[in-house]
Amino acid sequence: NDKVVIVTGGGQGIGRCIVQTFADKGAKVVIADIDDEAGIENEEYIKSKGGDSLFVHTDVSLEKDVGNLVDKTIKTYGKIDILINNAGVGARGTIYTRPMEEWDRVINVNLRGTYMCSKYVAPHMRDNGGGVIINIASTRAFMSEPHTEPYSASKGGIIALTHSLAISLGYDKIRVNSISPGWIEVSEWKKSREAKKPQLTEEDHLQHPAGRVGKPEDVANACLFLCSEEASFITGANLIVDGGMTVKMIYV
Ligand code: NAD
Repeated sequence: NDKVVIVTGGGQGIGRCIVQTFADKGAKVVIADIDDEAGIENEEYIKSKGGDSLFVHTDVSLEKDVGNLVDKTIKTYGKIDILINNAGVGARGTIYTRPMEEWDRVINVNLRGTYMCSKYVAPHMRDNGGGVIINIASTRAFMSEPHTEPYSASKGGIIALTHSLAISLGYDKIRVNSISPGWIEVSEWKKSREAKKPQLTEEDHLQHPAGRVGKPEDVANACLFLCSEEASFITGANLIVDGGMTVKMIYV
């Protein structure tokens, strides 16, 4: 189809897979990433397969970059149908060692970036008769390993931001949902210089009720579904894509 899709963090990992999945369906995909090498490589790959793609250097935590991303997309394609807020970073350190700048960095990319991209894209969706926003959260919004406070809090914030946006934008025909992936092995979706084979063990796979660790395609397919007509009654929801891990009781 002729949909225009922006994917933040579309250079590598899950975002790269989302970009290629939507391009395969005929969408025009805008890759917004801080990593020029990865973004350009992905853009060129899509063009080499006959697809239509545009890389725009973007740090989602910077307002001028987000404004530029939306301007360039509108100038090139004239509209925005779908925004996938996928860019995200993890946190270093522990609560005992972590400087506050690290808290700010993670919250600014993961949470502020998601809000800011939605804020700049929403008026164009409204004026074009509607759209779909998908925010990539994490099962870490609901459960934790030690020392993940900034990341978990940013993802919990994304869950709340999602229902808040869904209510604000619903009557403008903009649906807003989140996807919470569990463990997704992304090493096959890195830029070529970083590509390496995953070294997963049998135990890694079998601890999942689904019998395997997740793949970027699992998240990309969930995005396709949430953007489809079949999902037109779904807004403000969070879809967990984790092979059953967060509902598995682990007492021994
Ligand atoms: P990744 O590190 O492989 O890719 C992230 C991409 O985002 C990279 O291309 C990177 O350059 C880009 N990026 C980083 N900071 C940016 C910024 N400020 N502005 C624009 N782009 C930026 O990560 P991934 O594993 O593919 O994760 C993608 C999303 O999925 C993240 O939001 C992550 O939190 C979430 N997630 C991942 C997993 C997992 O197991 N891989 C699980 C749950 C949630």
